Amino acid sequence: MPKIGVLALQGAFREHAEAFDALGADVVLIKHAEQFASIDAIVLPGGESTTQAKLLDTFAMRAPLADALAAGLGCFATCAGLILLATEVLDGRADQVPLGLLDVAVRRNGYGRQVMSFESALEIEGLHAPFTGVFIRAPRLVRVGDSVEVLARHDTHPVLVRRGRIWAAGFHPELADDLRLHQLFLHALTREDANP
Ligand code: GLN
Repeated sequence: MPKIGVLALQGAFREHAEAFDALGADVVLIKHAEQFASIDAIVLPGGESTTQAKLLDTFAMRAPLADALAAGLGCFATCAGLILLATEVLDGRADQVPLGLLDVAVRRNGYGRQVMSFESALEIEGLHAPFTGVFIRAPRLVRVGDSVEVLARHDTHPVLVRRGRIWAAGFHPELADDLRLHQLFLHALTREDANP
């Protein structure tokens, strides 16, 4: 079973840790850059992307995280985590610099104030039955680069994307009471490790 680190600076990290733990993964909460070397994948949880970006800088974790991801560390990012990974953030704070590791443009709170939070049944590639997408002040993917595969859409907009070992969702699978997406990610990780 892979070792999954969950970035535990801010946001919904406990729910992700519980989900991967329930699936039998070896889970560790990540608070220092030194820990990146000992994990197979990192979870970037939902929360507040501006605060998370600041904390990464405060704890000198930004460059080590970007380097580890560029070198092949797996990643399961949700919501604010997706914003952190993007190459372009629209409606972000002026000083909000994303990691730029996933070639997508995201609009923060892109589903508008009137529907700040909603649920929707999503068809996800690799899952046989619909998955409940929980959207909470979700970012909207407004552009997806050629290197990025779309695994699910809501209406016409991508809401789950993947580039190799890096997965990112605009919604919160850790709040759906359904472990299938975490499990799909784990399976993909272990398959790739077996056939690099
Ligand atoms: N709107 C939040 C942000 O910009 C993301 C919301 C979430 O992670 N649930 O960081």
